[in-house]
Amino acid sequence: MVEESGRRKRPNILVTGTPGTGKTTTCTALAEASQLRHINVGDLVKEKNLHDGWDDELDCYVINEDLVCDELEDQMEEGGNIVDYHGCDFFPERWFDCVVVLQTDNTVLYDRLSRRGYNESKLSNNIECEIFQVLLEEAKESYPEDRVVAMKSDTIEDVSRNVSTLTDWVRNWHPTS
Ligand code: ADP
Ligand code: MN
Repeated sequence: MVEESGRRKRPNILVTGTPGTGKTTTCTALAEASQLRHINVGDLVKEKNLHDGWDDELDCYVINEDLVCDELEDQMEEGGNIVDYHGCDFFPERWFDCVVVLQTDNTVLYDRLSRRGYNESKLSNNIECEIFQVLLEEAKESYPEDRVVAMKSDTIEDVSRNVSTLTDWVRNWHPTS
């Protein structure tokens, strides 16, 4: 298969992690600092109806992965995107030059998700997801390991450090790398 990442002038970054780990906070700051385009997949799914209805049990939309990938294909080919989503196994591997998995201490995450008003089952599902490092495993299974990086996201200082590390990485990225 033809390696397509070489055509991009700017890199694509995926920022993933359990809900509440700080993906949107981090991506917003990173987009500002690096001048890349922030794509919040959850918002896009709602806006463009890229779902198959509401799952009452899981209390979220049933995302239509094919529709999402079709919607994003052109932009991803162009490059210069930061994709923000709590899943990573259904995007084409060739889209991403770097996959960031945010991680948060359980008690800190519990407080963030309670403040968000999550019900008991949604809370425990997400805390369990974080304890078992589900997103890190999913990222490692879906992308070459040298493109996957785990970053701690407990405090605002962590966000600043992660954003500055990633901004430097973007600045030094070249199409052939
Ligand atoms: P996600 O997009 O992963 O669900 P958000 O970025 O929406 O997470 O963050 C959830 C909440 O936690 C927000 O209120 C945000 O301000 C806070 N938050 C996220 N990351 C951090 C962090 N590293 N330090 C302190 N607060 C954070
Ligand atoms: Mn978010």
